[in-house]
Amino acid sequence: MTVLAGPTAVGKGTVSADVRRRYPQVWLSVSATTRPPRPGEVHGVHYLFVSPEEFDRMVAEGQMLEWAVVHGRHRYGTPRGPVEERLAAGVPTLLEIDLQGARQVRDSMPEARFVFLAPPSFDELVRRLVGRGTEDAEERERRLATARVELAAEQEFDVTIVNDDVHRAADALVGVMGIPVTGAVAG
Ligand code: 5GP
Repeated sequence: MTVLAGPTAVGKGTVSADVRRRYPQVWLSVSATTRPPRPGEVHGVHYLFVSPEEFDRMVAEGQMLEWAVVHGRHRYGTPRGPVEERLAAGVPTLLEIDLQGARQVRDSMPEARFVFLAPPSFDELVRRLVGRGTEDAEERERRLATARVELAAEQEFDVTIVNDDVHRAADALVGVMGIPVTGAVAG
């Protein structure tokens, strides 16, 4: 199993979506979340969108491999059952989760491979983070402080992949998973 994590706004979701599109032999875990769906997001594909009560129940029943509150708001977690089924069947399995979740998986499944997705530079992360221009100065400072702390987590990981190009990063990731890299980019 491979766990992909990294700082806020580094592009984990984009890279894992590219893996899903170009390497269908990789199974990408579908997380449960209490966050409401965004336009275009499909229940069971992008996330399992559950109520806070349903999330509580899943945690209480031991169904979560890991879970965390992300960005101080909504809860996100990896349902354990589907992951264990894929691993038992020998399917290449990828988890795209935040740093807190990655630390929990490291405690329970130390044999997993932990991949840190890094920005090309701190300045580039700042650009991506503030690119939307939706945060005020205070919120921006708060997120940048978080990003600085998160970047220091790199040393906890087995492998670092720099996200300078989405397809290249996705190819590097499947390479780490032992899957032959096709390099083909459709669409
Ligand atoms: P978004 O709401 O933008 O889809 O995701 C926000 C953050 O939640 C991302 O950093 C993503 O890595 C993280 N995340 C998504 N699924 C999980 C999960 O199952 N567990 C944990 N710990 N974090 C997750």
